[in-house]
Amino acid sequence: MMIEKEEIVSRIKRLKQEKDVVILSHYYMPAELQFELADGGFVDFVGDSLGLSVQASNTHARNILFCGVRFMAETALLVNNGKNVFMPNPSAGCSLASSISAADVRALKEQYPGVPVMGYINTYAETKTELDICCTSRNAIAVAASLEGDRIIFVPDLYMGENLQKVIKKELGKDLILWNGSCEVHEQFRNFLPQMAAENNAEMLFHWEVPEEITNMMDDGRKGIVGSTGDILKYVKESNASRFYLASECDLSVALKKENADKEFITPCVKCPYMKQNTLLKLLEALEAIGGEAEAAYRIDLDADIIAKAKLPVERMLAVKI
Ligand code: SF4
Repeated sequence: MMIEKEEIVSRIKRLKQEKDVVILSHYYMPAELQFELADGGFVDFVGDSLGLSVQASNTHARNILFCGVRFMAETALLVNNGKNVFMPNPSAGCSLASSISAADVRALKEQYPGVPVMGYINTYAETKTELDICCTSRNAIAVAASLEGDRIIFVPDLYMGENLQKVIKKELGKDLILWNGSCEVHEQFRNFLPQMAAENNAEMLFHWEVPEEITNMMDDGRKGIVGSTGDILKYVKESNASRFYLASECDLSVALKKENADKEFITPCVKCPYMKQNTLLKLLEALEAIGGEAEAAYRIDLDADIIAKAKLPVERMLAVKI
């Protein structure tokens, strides 16, 4: 029997109270999973990777239900001091996180002895066990500044690394050694270069993860920003422009429109297939399972030795002031 959306939302609200669950949701979730408490919904916090990690480390709730992809929920488990972490769909992966393993990082460290390894948060916990420090797209430059020496191994995002390299070389005088991983969502924006070039009256919103041939447009005097999700949201809020071209995951436009109802956003609407493996119904099913025998299907578990090693680079990152 089909359940009406209103009925699903009502059950989610009741169950999260009964089972002491905090619901964290990434900006790339479908709109129905960005329905915040303040708007009459059930999501305690909508944010980017860094914001969600901080929320996971600060929550007093016994259980965290994480609407995102698996590496994010693993990170929540690393920083949350013994809380239970669940996902609506724990098999939701990420092309970037899958592009590198712990063995790959060990090989890089052998090839470049003594060079610190800065790993994007978009890595699985097992890979994090080999990193010196993590970063997100929001704090990458501050984290790079905190490291000794004039070279840094940055993994796994090649495009983000190439974009960061320009700023890090100019501001910090450091060189990045890169890995050939990519986000299959952001790399698709290269198919829309002619469309972007024709949008003369829009300011450009480029995520660090798009290929360099796209961000090079900014060298030709285009207005806009190359940055993290948080940087993009802040930029739009402060800009006097009325029209923007978004080159990042389509559902980021949910938060952009919510915060800037008077502004127009154009996007080819490229969606992350992994993020979209979370749905309202799966969220309800996970909530129903928590506390019972079926909860194992939604729980994020990691070996204790992986947790002990993988939490260190995340904690070092959280200690860096931005
Ligand atoms: S948008 Fe890209 S980096 Fe983010 S989860 Fe999807 S594939 Fe991974």
